[in-house]
Amino acid sequence: MKKKKIINLFIGSNNQGKIKEIRDLLPKKVQILTPKHFNLNSPKETGATFKENSFLKAKFFSKKTKMVCLADDSGLEIDSLNKLPGIYSARWGGKKSNFNLAIKKVYKELKKKDKNWYKIKQPARFICALTLYWPNNKFLNVMGKIEGTISKFKKGNKGFGYDPIFIPLKKKLTFGQMIPKEKYKIDHRINAFKKIKKFF
Ligand code: IMP
Repeated sequence: MKKKKIINLFIGSNNQGKIKEIRDLLPKKVQILTPKHFNLNSPKETGATFKENSFLKAKFFSKKTKMVCLADDSGLEIDSLNKLPGIYSARWGGKKSNFNLAIKKVYKELKKKDKNWYKIKQPARFICALTLYWPNNKFLNVMGKIEGTISKFKKGNKGFGYDPIFIPLKKKLTFGQMIPKEKYKIDHRINAFKKIKKFF
């Protein structure tokens, strides 16, 4: 049986950086709505994993809007910080999601672990969990990731979040220095999105 393609989609995020990236991944014919259109706030992220948090956001927004909802929970794991900031990636930016603050905290924590941290490669990865949730309670969870290292300095002003300090494996530029089109081809979100592409 031919799968019915999703034409109207609710994106369960208030993060403009993510919304823009997801919009760019979807075919142009897909009409999207976001929490702003319904004057909705995001639910509390009480899950212990990216998967749990993306699921609870997708379910919450689908129930509220009676629409098919796509939610993303993502973040940066740094090995030498025991995988932090991880699911706390947004929270490291404080109440106002100040990404400069979050990046300062990363450097502060790395320095606390080892004042010569930048002399050794600092393996890290971006993780993305996506959940598609239908009003009939059907759902699908998928994951994607991209491996890389932490840059000694903050570089570039493109993208959002931790983009200026993340250098993907086999690349010289940080995500913050890359043009969005280049980042979107290889990042954690596209790697997760490939697994649900068939629905659009
Ligand atoms: P949440 O999934 O809304 O809880 O927040 C994820 C947080 O992880 C964002 O606020 C960013 O700080 C970070 N993050 C997720 N994806 C990216 C990305 O593609 N680039 C940079 N930072 C990201």
